[in-house]
Amino acid sequence: MGGGQLGRMFVHAAQAMGYATAVLDADPTSPAGLVSHHHLLAAYTDTAALAELARVADAVTTEFENVPAPALRVLAETRPVAPSAEAVAICQDRAAEKAHFSRAGVPCAPYAVIDSEAALAAADEALLPGILKTATLGYDGKGQARVADRAELTSAWQRLGKARCVLERLLPLQRELSVIVARGADGHAVTFPVQQNLHRDGILAVTQVPAPDVPSSLADEAARCAKAIAASMDYVGVLCVEFFVVAGADGAPRLVANEMAPRPHNSGHYTIDACDVSQFDLQVRCMAGLPLVSPRLHSPAVMLNLLGDLWFVGGEAPAKAPRWVEVLALPGAHLHLYGKTDARPGRKMGHLTFTGATPEDTRALALKACALLGLPAF
Ligand code: ATP
Ligand code: MG
Repeated sequence: MGGGQLGRMFVHAAQAMGYATAVLDADPTSPAGLVSHHHLLAAYTDTAALAELARVADAVTTEFENVPAPALRVLAETRPVAPSAEAVAICQDRAAEKAHFSRAGVPCAPYAVIDSEAALAAADEALLPGILKTATLGYDGKGQARVADRAELTSAWQRLGKARCVLERLLPLQRELSVIVARGADGHAVTFPVQQNLHRDGILAVTQVPAPDVPSSLADEAARCAKAIAASMDYVGVLCVEFFVVAGADGAPRLVANEMAPRPHNSGHYTIDACDVSQFDLQVRCMAGLPLVSPRLHSPAVMLNLLGDLWFVGGEAPAKAPRWVEVLALPGAHLHLYGKTDARPGRKMGHLTFTGATPEDTRALALKACALLGLPAF
């Protein structure tokens, strides 16, 4: 379900293992639809298309967080669907997600649900300055506003159409981490190494593994939390949990869960080139009921997201391909482009993963690529 780049990389992994694939997405040029055996061109709620998908597929998964939960429920009547509609519904709603973190015993940022004028008026002063986020449908920093005080909070909520929102306190982040966990129907779960993420303008820009300077106790704790979050909703499939690292009362680094995605994640793209099994391989195994083995990182890695902006560096239209020839002359460069013909600022066009012998070498090569592409250093 869903034809974006995550679906495309899943299709690649499934096909490498000999499976045929079907993609449901209304866009005839969707990145996954272009490479799949079957491409059902229809809306996620199209009854006939869902019936056809159930007919051609032995198992169903989703690459798009906002696939309507009822569509997954319909498919689940006749086919194994992983993750379940219930798990996806939790991840689709920031308020439900935060309540779930608490249920799993994992701390999250202090927050309040803003769903009425009364809730707005009652919002605790301690949540300011804060970030107001729409409860549903936000991604890549969209549907969010930073608010310094009550006046800004009121006007931001009006600008967001008085949609149901959560107001979170703005935390002083030391760093951001994420963990990808894969959990089978038998409850066995494995995790990838903890990765460190850098966001720019609310969009993931750089992922580094191993996460630099993260004590192993903190990395272990992040993996434990991700597994607890998956287990407490009886999750089946690949799940990514994003964490903030903040200073605790004693000054020691402390983990706070930010959000989760019920699918492979942009911060796990490096696993294709730097691990012996990728996040997409494990998604295939989860669906097929095959054994989940602990993935091994065989090389340090740095992943750079390639946004459409890179096609317009140094001037305006027309779009011009970035300097791939020079980038690919760097050792350890793995270029992934998603087959999107139309470059637009902010649009995820591809990613570039560097693998190397040491974290220092790998970072140095990635920095050279940044200089060639006109990306800021990290
Ligand atoms: P995604 O594309 O990952 O789904 P999103 O639009 O859902 O992103 P969030 O992950 O909630 O957004 O926030 C995007 C980024 O904004 C975070 O990675 C972090 O850098 C910053 N941010 C979000 N919430 C807070 C907070 N409470 N305090 C400080 N920074 C925050
Ligand atoms: Mg996020």
